[in-house]
Amino acid sequence: MALRKMLKKYDKIHRSKQGQAFKMQIQIMHIEILRSPWLCELLAFYLNNSNNNSPIGNDIHGLLKDMSLTFDEGSNKPSLTCGFFDSFSINVDLTCSICLDTVFDPISLACGHIFCYICACGAASETIIDGLREASSESKCPLCRQEGVYRDYVRLTELNILLRENCHAYWEKRLQSERMDRLQQAKEYWDAQCRNIIGI
Ligand SMILES: [Zn+2]
Ligand SMILES: [Zn+2]
Repeated sequence: MALRKMLKKYDKIHRSKQGQAFKMQIQIMHIEILRSPWLCELLAFYLNNSNNNSPIGNDIHGLLKDMSLTFDEGSNKPSLTCGFFDSFSINVDLTCSICLDTVFDPISLACGHIFCYICACGAASETIIDGLREASSESKCPLCRQEGVYRDYVRLTELNILLRENCHAYWEKRLQSERMDRLQQAKEYWDAQCRNIIGI
């Protein structure tokens, strides 16, 4: 890349290591940006708005290219792909590593890993009623084992909309089964509350 050459030349002329240090910094920043769930949310936001001639879509062009929701030929599972500045492209797998299916009602933990909301509740040993904000600060992410990542979770609303619109049959199926799970959890919760109140 041109920038890399320029930094190398700068170091050569000035006998410095600043160019090299800056290059390293850019690489670290690149990795951090690519790991960020916000990139996923931003791509989903772009794709959700690109069909109705919204100015949001046009503004991103030039920076990001060939953004799309693609489906694996074998498993038919979706992933997000995107190219940056013509130089490299990324592919974000949208599989929840707990239920091993496409994420439903997706959230990102503070460490950046994405799961279904209900799966993350299960991993943190919380019911859907108490929710992730009640999770213990010692609960660990199932993927990276980092502690205290549940309370500051972020809901990926645009990604949810994208999957609802593009994987409609799957999304409806999950909605039905999730409704049953949530109702069951709510029933157990209220049964326990009632027992506490009436004492038997
Ligand atoms: Zn899941
Ligand atoms: Zn993690």
